[in-house]
Amino acid sequence: MRCVIFITLLASLGMGCGRKCELPEPQSASLMAPLEYESTVKVKIDSSFSPFQQLEIRQAVMQWNRFSDEKLRYAFFATEVATPTGADRPKNIGDCDFSGSSDSEFWILREEDSGRWKSLGLTNSNPGVTIRCGSGSSISQQVIFLNTSLVDPRQFVSVALHELGHAVGLDHSCQLAGGSKDFVACGSVGSPHPYREAVMYPALRSILPLTGQPEKKEVLMGNDHERAACLYGAQ
Ligand SMILES: [Zn+2]
Repeated sequence: MRCVIFITLLASLGMGCGRKCELPEPQSASLMAPLEYESTVKVKIDSSFSPFQQLEIRQAVMQWNRFSDEKLRYAFFATEVATPTGADRPKNIGDCDFSGSSDSEFWILREEDSGRWKSLGLTNSNPGVTIRCGSGSSISQQVIFLNTSLVDPRQFVSVALHELGHAVGLDHSCQLAGGSKDFVACGSVGSPHPYREAVMYPALRSILPLTGQPEKKEVLMGNDHERAACLYGAQ
């Protein structure tokens, strides 16, 4: 069965530091650096997304804001539509010399160019990516790319919601390749395990056997909430 695979690219960013709680061992190494800015971060939506795609990105943003409003008493994100410059786009893996991002704002950029996608280390199986840059346990900048030529439109919200989870600081709920005692392999968590049902599971199925429809995850699940609450000390 074909799946779209999510990956997160991390450049010189320490993982697992500054954590405010400990998760159970199968996921204890699954947290990344949280958003530094303890107030609302501006999310700039690329104006080249269609109006409907912009609306769907806002729908995904609202999901994360619902969580943070309840647990932290502030909204993680405020959106605005803007037009990026070429300097706002990382050009390859490890390129952290892009502008337009700081601890208080980042872009969600549209990409369709297969050459540029490949330069980022991505394949046709990757519908989106979050690139995070920083040192130690803090992020200096980050950017989300959504590839509108690769995302099934029916899964667009799901992909945006997942990538925003990386922007918040969550790594995947399990590891597709490998796996360890503190970051479990996905092969050992089949449905309906909470790690498998999570938005942050690292793949989405193109076709669900029962319905014949693509898999959608448009609502944050218990495991997503638990890990985000842990990362932000909100338990
Ligand atoms: Zn991912």
